[in-house]
Amino acid sequence: MTATRVLVLNSGSSSVKYQLLEMTDESRLAVGLVERIGENQSRLTHVCLRRGSPVASEGERRERVEEFADHEAALRAAAEELAADGLGLDSPGLAAIGHRVVHGGQWFTRPTLVDDDVLAEIRRLVPVAPLHNPANLTGITTAQTLSPGLPQVAVFDTTFHTTMPEHAARYAIDVGTADEHRVRRYGFHGTSHAYVSRRTAELLGKDPSEVNVIVLHLGNGASVSAVEGGRCVDTSMGLTPLEGLVMGTRSGDLDPAVVFHLVRVAGMTVDEVDELLNKRSGLVGLCGDNDMREIRRRIEEGDERAQLAFDIYIHRIKKYIGAYYAVLGRVDAVAFTAGVGENSPPVREAALAGLEGLGLAVDPAANEAEGPAADGARLISSRDARVAAAVVPTDEELEIARQTYALVTGREPRQTG
Ligand code: ADP
Repeated sequence: MTATRVLVLNSGSSSVKYQLLEMTDESRLAVGLVERIGENQSRLTHVCLRRGSPVASEGERRERVEEFADHEAALRAAAEELAADGLGLDSPGLAAIGHRVVHGGQWFTRPTLVDDDVLAEIRRLVPVAPLHNPANLTGITTAQTLSPGLPQVAVFDTTFHTTMPEHAARYAIDVGTADEHRVRRYGFHGTSHAYVSRRTAELLGKDPSEVNVIVLHLGNGASVSAVEGGRCVDTSMGLTPLEGLVMGTRSGDLDPAVVFHLVRVAGMTVDEVDELLNKRSGLVGLCGDNDMREIRRRIEEGDERAQLAFDIYIHRIKKYIGAYYAVLGRVDAVAFTAGVGENSPPVREAALAGLEGLGLAVDPAANEAEGPAADGARLISSRDARVAAAVVPTDEELEIARQTYALVTGREPRQTG
């Protein structure tokens, strides 16, 4: 049996998401989530979408609520559920496991087969990604224990951004200090920016090398990137995911002196400021809600705080569109993706309003409509717009699976088509 399946694992601090994909047709065989790992009421939700052997029925959803003390227990349980569907980790059809790793620093410029050196480097990056890399590491080492001999591939959120030129990646601070402590702009959500920029090129009927795209990944975390001919030349997140756009709970850009001010004048500790800027800022800090649906509902009722939060959020997006327009020189498309970008017509409309001078204009009906393509990707620009506007649902798991499969089979990653 040829091994044509890839298991994608996304290990967070208290959760593990997994998807098993059949790469010959890129279909999902099973998807699942283990939440609240380490608590006594952890929950595993598993959906078998297609049978591996005649055991489970298609589309069957199973739930387990019990204590999964750590990632190993969680992954073992996920492996049991897959095995119950005839899709276990020991099945000969499984080609590899692809792991999402948030921070790959400057040196991981491509997906990488995991070995001890790779693990050590991911560990060395923990100081710049204290929330994410430890969980990603645990996911990898647990998967190694559960499936010895199976190729484990690390796919980094930062990789797509390693093509940024030095003048975009460096902060204007003392070079010696920056280099000693690895302080530079790394960027995140790279797997999403890579997938969406390529899918946008396809939507325009062009090769990615021919188009320049501004990708707006607007989820609870949010980032924007400038993609020139398929290569990232700038992105809004930096050393950490705090920089850039206004997010659900993060401030995005601010004068760094705000930190000194809060420490010196408000008497806050550095950890308190860290928590303020990452957890109690952005939309939640401005109006108490970080869900765009709730913010829009409040605006409809005339809530001024919600309106101001929305306006600040949109103003920042506009500033980045302008900045990246200038960085790229010529823009073929602006693409919206992730929870807010895919589902909020008012955000898309407001973000592009008044940008007719840049060749951008939204068609109101297309902005509200569902997409004709199976994956929901569609153009929402008006006919006379010089620059396309697009909604492109992101698919980070598919991108991780493609890159993993390409690495273990020695082929180029496939495109959506
Ligand atoms: P994450 O960054 O956690 O991966 P997502 O990309 O899933 O986040 O985005 C989550 C956010 O998407 C929610 O906080 C909410 O603001 C927004 N969202 C989800 N569905 C809708 C919707 N139908 N309309 C407007 N906003 C939505």
